[in-house]
Amino acid sequence: MIDKVLIANRGEIALRILRACRALGIGTVAVHSTVDRDLKHVRMADESVCIGGASSAESYLNIPAIISAAELTDAVAIHPGFGFLSENADFAERVEQSGFRFIGPRAETIRLMGDKVSAIDAMKAAGVPCVPGSGGPLGDDDSENLRLAREIGYPVIVKAAAGGGGRGMRVVHAEGSLLHSISLTRTEAANAFGSDVVYMEKYLGNPRHVEIQVMADEHGNAVHLGERDCSMQRRHQKVIEESPAPGISDEERAAIGKRCAEACIKLGYRGAGTFEFLYEDGEFYFIEMNTRIQVEHPVTEMVTGRDLVAEQIRVANGDPLSFSQSDIQFRGHAIECRINAEDPERFLPSPGQITLYHPPGGPGIRVDSHVYTGYTVPPHYDSMIGKVIAWGEDRDSAIARMRTALSELVVEGIKTNTLLHEELMLDSGFQAGGTNIHYLEKKLGLS
Ligand code: ADP
Repeated sequence: MIDKVLIANRGEIALRILRACRALGIGTVAVHSTVDRDLKHVRMADESVCIGGASSAESYLNIPAIISAAELTDAVAIHPGFGFLSENADFAERVEQSGFRFIGPRAETIRLMGDKVSAIDAMKAAGVPCVPGSGGPLGDDDSENLRLAREIGYPVIVKAAAGGGGRGMRVVHAEGSLLHSISLTRTEAANAFGSDVVYMEKYLGNPRHVEIQVMADEHGNAVHLGERDCSMQRRHQKVIEESPAPGISDEERAAIGKRCAEACIKLGYRGAGTFEFLYEDGEFYFIEMNTRIQVEHPVTEMVTGRDLVAEQIRVANGDPLSFSQSDIQFRGHAIECRINAEDPERFLPSPGQITLYHPPGGPGIRVDSHVYTGYTVPPHYDSMIGKVIAWGEDRDSAIARMRTALSELVVEGIKTNTLLHEELMLDSGFQAGGTNIHYLEKKLGLS
């Protein structure tokens, strides 16, 4: 029985996991770096262990220190959150080999999905629609690579098989720059991800980013919990997410959702996962699978009324899913704005002490944040300080509630991107819904 969970993360997701554990009556262990002693969840956890210095490498990526903390505190399971070690197959393996439960998929599934080439292969075999592409890693034969690109049709995108975080990809518009782009991407990939394996796929001109949330147990059950539209991106990083995706019909949702749930059963998938798709001209094209809980999971929770983090823990405990596909009903519309500690003009991180914090509230408003008045945002980690989520009976009322919420949010002492969100809520393109992945950068004059 999982009666104590070690939370191997920080910030708002660590607090989110702690809340889920509390609601389930499960004990909690917080692990933290030397600069994170004052994190809200560290103060709230039943036990806490300092695992190392400020840099992620010394603490939140320090596998031996995290395993030792679990041993020291008799934790039963480890929740990796997102980022850090959440998609590190070696970590998942070490956790289970050390006798703990990993709250996530099996290590071999993480490994399979972590390599985008093998992920695409597995998805094709499971009947999930993919972007037309090289169908495997690119070799060293220049003429063969030129032939492949011609067959796919320009523009193409060269991507690192081990890539992540929107890095390690390069768009190629014409044959003249293909070979140079392949070798540049290879070098970058080797430096950033330790693997120079690259592949190629069709570059879709104006797609939307639409992803499907799934949940599966160890008893052969898998369900989908609908989709999220995450097209509002800057530098391939999501800024606003919503569910449902504007303009996606119930039939489309059911059809693509069913494919994803069936793929989970074929893969022997366990826990929460996300199938990321590009959506263009009414077609879904798989790009990658995330084998963890995502930043934007609250919008799905708001429209389905399900607690995805609690469900992750139940599944890790070996329980069957607490709901079936027909139990999942979608109600209303939810939007999430990621609040970052950053300069709104130059998008540079803005760490420092928060001298005044006041979160919004009211009907349909949820704020997932670990910050408080007096809290100091350290410069060492991601700049996200929280998420404001607004739910309404329909999209317009969710937007109206979000506008009120954003106007109520007070964060003083550091700079945040709140104003950008306020502008976007008033933007005619956003209000119409269904903008593509380039919309925000164009609006910001970045592309
Ligand atoms: P990462 O793992 O780094 O997030 P993804 O494969 O998920 O990489 O791609 C990130 C983003 O890059 C997508 O959301 C999309 O904006 C863009 N992108 C990726 N592949 C393509 C493609 N074939 N055509 C057009 N845009 C793409």
